[in-house]
Amino acid sequence: MAVIVLAMELTAPGPAASHPLKLVERAQPEPAAGEVRLRVEACAVCRTDLQISSGDLAAKRPGTVPGHQIVGRVEELGEGVDAGLRGRRLGVGWLGSTCGECDLCRAGQENLCPGAAFTGWDRDGGFATEVVVRADFARPLDGDADPVALAPLLCGGIIGYRAFRLAGVGEGQRLGLYGFGASALQVAQLALAQGCQVFVVSRDRAGRERARALGAAWVGAPGEDPPAPLRGAITFAPAGAVVVDALRSLERGGTCVVNAIHLDGVPGFDYRMLYWERRLMSVANFTRRDSEEFLRLAQSIPIRTRTERFPLADANVALERLEGDRIEGAAVLVP
Ligand SMILES: [Zn+2]
Ligand SMILES: [Zn+2]
Repeated sequence: MAVIVLAMELTAPGPAASHPLKLVERAQPEPAAGEVRLRVEACAVCRTDLQISSGDLAAKRPGTVPGHQIVGRVEELGEGVDAGLRGRRLGVGWLGSTCGECDLCRAGQENLCPGAAFTGWDRDGGFATEVVVRADFARPLDGDADPVALAPLLCGGIIGYRAFRLAGVGEGQRLGLYGFGASALQVAQLALAQGCQVFVVSRDRAGRERARALGAAWVGAPGEDPPAPLRGAITFAPAGAVVVDALRSLERGGTCVVNAIHLDGVPGFDYRMLYWERRLMSVANFTRRDSEEFLRLAQSIPIRTRTERFPLADANVALERLEGDRIEGAAVLVP
C-alpha cells in the first residue's frame, strides 16, 4: 500500500475562519534529482502564510501546502545528493530555489532572482508530515536542539537579520523597531548583542513589556516618537502608517527598512521627512548567505524564541490567532 502523508492544503483563499486550510491525505512525495524528502519535526507559522491563505498574496498554484519555516530530518535522497545527509536535521526557509544564472544571482542578490521559487507558495511547504525540498537551499541545524525553538529562526529571524543589516545600525547607535512580534523579538536580541540601543514601538502592551524586559532603551505605543532620532528603523507591522512614523523618527542619513511582503499602502508624507539622504526601502526574501550568517549568530548569542505549539490539524486555529494578534511569540505546528 502506498505511504500516505498528511498535509494542510490551500483550497479556497479567504479569511481563516471562513476559508480554512483543508487536512488531506496525499501520496508520499518522491525527491527528484538534487532534492531530499524531510520528515517534518516542526514548522512555524509566518504572517506570509496568513497572507497566502487569506488571498492577500495570490496563490501561485491550486492545492498549495503553506509553511516555510521547516525543521525536519532527511529520510530520502534524490539523485546526486550527498548520502551523508541521510538522517541529518535540516532547516528550510522561504527561498526554495533560484535560477543561479541571472545577473542578480551572480551578483550575490539571489533574494531578488526573478526565477526564484518560494517554499509554501510556488512549492509545497511544511504544513505537512513530510515535504520535498531542494537540498542546496536547506541548511544543517543542531540535531540536539528543540525543533520547535529552531523553527521561528528560519523566516522571522533570517529576514529580520537581513533587515537589520540593511538598516545599517552599528554599535552604540539607535535602532527603532516598529511592531514587536516574533521577528522583532529576534532582531532586538541581535541588535542588543551587537551593542545597539533599541527603541521599540508596539501597540500591544505585552509586547512593550517584553521589549522593556529584554533591555530596550525606550518603549512606546503607536503615535509616540522615540526621544532621540534613529540611525535606522525596521517596520514589522503590516500597516502603512507605521512606515511614516518610522521615517519621521530617522536622523539625517538614516534608513527605514520595511519588513513586509504586502502592505495596503503607505500614506503620503512631507518630503522633508525623506530629505537629508534618508532612505526608505523594503527587504525582500533572503540569500543563503544571510541564513548561514544568521543561524551561526543565533546559536552563539544565543537568540531565544517564544513559541506556542499547535498540532498540524490545528493550523487554522494558529492562523486565526495570528490574524487576531493573539499569538505570544511564534505559532509552531508539530505534526
Ligand atoms: Zn515568513
Ligand atoms: Zn536568478
